[in-house]
Amino acid sequence: MDRIDVGVARPKCSKLECPRSTANGKPYCCKHIEMIPYAAELIAQLEKRKEQREKLTEAELFFEDVVIELRLKGQSTIEGLARALRLPLLSMGKILRAMKRSGLIRLGKNSRNSITAELV
Ligand SMILES: [Zn+2]
Repeated sequence: MDRIDVGVARPKCSKLECPRSTANGKPYCCKHIEMIPYAAELIAQLEKRKEQREKLTEAELFFEDVVIELRLKGQSTIEGLARALRLPLLSMGKILRAMKRSGLIRLGKNSRNSITAELV
């Protein structure tokens, strides 16, 4: 061993020939963070998900976005969903009716007479 470890020196990135140091005990620097196994796995998952989304039709993409919104909020009004998905109210109505026909959501009305949607 010809290298003396001084306690204050920050560990070097595990990527070969990378001169950067790492923080918080991570094995790689911020530029090579994707080499950490769990980060690589996460990135692979995101890539796969992106590919899956690219195969969906436009309507199915909106269906998925509505499902995500409703999972977060439990229930939402048609106005709230239109805002969240940046869609005109008319389009949102068509999407919600199609989703209801597919048995994905239940539609109702709230005390202000707005159409509400929730997951089945
Ligand atoms: Zn690095």
